[in-house]
Amino acid sequence: MNIVMMGAQGTGKGTVAGILKEELNIPHISTGDIFRKNIKEGTELGQIASKYINDGNLVPDEVTNAMVKSRLNESDCDNGFILDGYPRNIEQAEELDRILEENSKKVEYAINLTLEMEEIMSRITNRRICSNSGCKEIYNLVSKPTKVPGICDKCGSEILQREDDSDEVAIKKRLDTYFSQTAPLIEYYNKKGIVHIVESNKAPKDIVEEIKNFIR
Ligand code: AMP
Repeated sequence: MNIVMMGAQGTGKGTVAGILKEELNIPHISTGDIFRKNIKEGTELGQIASKYINDGNLVPDEVTNAMVKSRLNESDCDNGFILDGYPRNIEQAEELDRILEENSKKVEYAINLTLEMEEIMSRITNRRICSNSGCKEIYNLVSKPTKVPGICDKCGSEILQREDDSDEVAIKKRLDTYFSQTAPLIEYYNKKGIVHIVESNKAPKDIVEEIKNFIR
């Protein structure tokens, strides 16, 4: 089952994909998470990516596409995957089609999570993430706070705000990029008849149920 999660920043793609991967037993591949892991580990990829990410810009396609191609060729993707944060523009979507075609595969479902702009802003600025890269649980200071302030309920590590979530200019730039470059992909996948729109103003487990009904 090859799934692409669409939707602006803060609509809950990561949270929903995190639940869905357990239920479908396929990997959740978040390009943002892979970049953040590489930045934390100080790899060459991380050094390239960080200067784009901190300014709220997209990492160049050639870097991102190569990274995704290599990840999708890992054996845990044989039975499917949930892509979160990729593709982000038409060029990436076309490259994804090419990568999959090489293995006689295709994108089967494009899930588009939608949310009011006011709620998007609130979710981005209140978002906190577990600093343990093996956990990465996502919290919200208002709607999903940790039991002990600042400490992950699941693993006890510190929870942090993403650097690009704390900079207003970077947030605005990321949302502008989303609406100008990424949102047109909904039409790209609509033409293939594989888009399912889900309103994201409900509990993640209800969103997951809706998605599962769609793909059944
Ligand atoms: P995310 O966690 O999906 O919000 O991604 C965080 C940041 O990583 C983005 O603002 C981009 O700078 C970069 N990024 C993630 N995915 C991509 C992608 N598909 N293409 C280019 N840059 C990306």
